[in-house]
Amino acid sequence: MASPQKVLLLAHTPNPLEVIFASFRQCYYNGFIGDVFEDILEGTPSKEEQEQFIANLVKSGHVSPLEHVSFTFAIEGVSRALTHQLVRHRIASYSQQSQRYVTGKNFSYITPPSIEKNIKAKEKYTALMESIQETYQELLTLFQQEDIKAKECIEDIRFILPQAAETRIVVTMNCRALLNFFEHRCCIRAQWEIRALANTMRKECTKILPSVFKESGAPCYSLKYCPEPKHLACGLFPTRD
Ligand SMILES: Cc1cc2nc3c(=O)[nH]c(=O)nc-3n(C[C@H](O)[C@H](O)[C@H](O)COP(=O)(O)OP(=O)(O)OC[C@H]3O[C@@H](n4cnc5c(N)ncnc54)[C@H](O)[C@@H]3O)c2cc1C
Repeated sequence: MASPQKVLLLAHTPNPLEVIFASFRQCYYNGFIGDVFEDILEGTPSKEEQEQFIANLVKSGHVSPLEHVSFTFAIEGVSRALTHQLVRHRIASYSQQSQRYVTGKNFSYITPPSIEKNIKAKEKYTALMESIQETYQELLTLFQQEDIKAKECIEDIRFILPQAAETRIVVTMNCRALLNFFEHRCCIRAQWEIRALANTMRKECTKILPSVFKESGAPCYSLKYCPEPKHLACGLFPTRD
């Protein structure tokens, strides 16, 4: 059995609000922001004013100062199918559990809800996963009889592992990349698994930096319409036309 999806915020850039405020402020300030950073940290201007300033600039689309603050998450209980989608987000850093170094013997796997609730589908799915687990073990035994080193065996046997196989990954994204990630992956068009992940990450980020993330997520919530073509819209909001 796979672990349930777990998303742990490991760390974020220290003083995230003040760092973003100082970066934004430097764009319009004729002095050196470094000279007043201590004041900013101590609350001049106040935290509320800093938050308001940032929220207004985010709305205006001036988002490059958001790149100075990053969040790092550790994620488990997700499938390789999910992480394949996740790593398409190129403006990020990733460290993923290796299938070359960590054995896939008795691998855990994710079961999609549609399969979970269909008894016949679940039977077939479970039988296939168990058959892969068995074959993995058989290949391992065959290779071990030939005295092939463990690492060399598992790096080749991993070719039989399914996209359902559970994995663990650490991801770091800056706030601008996170906004883009949430825009794509909190939308109902994204798959349930990565959508659940994006929604949890979004909640964590909003707790730390509400001025940046309060209005993040699927673009329809802030636009009040769906920017997708009609045939792809979920119906939550009217399409542009
Ligand atoms: C519902 C949905 C369905 C999808 N279906 C498919 C599919 O069928 N097939 C498929 O291959 N992918 C698919 N994708 C993946 C999608 O095309 C993107 O690769 C993925 O969402 C990463 O988004 P991104 O490029 O904006 O993110 P990032 O790679 O993090 O990039 C962030 C932003 O940086 C800029 N950027 C980054 N790299 C470049 C570059 N080389 N040139 C110019 N600008 C750049 C862009 O503005 C980009 O939006 C799907 C995504 C979603 C949400």
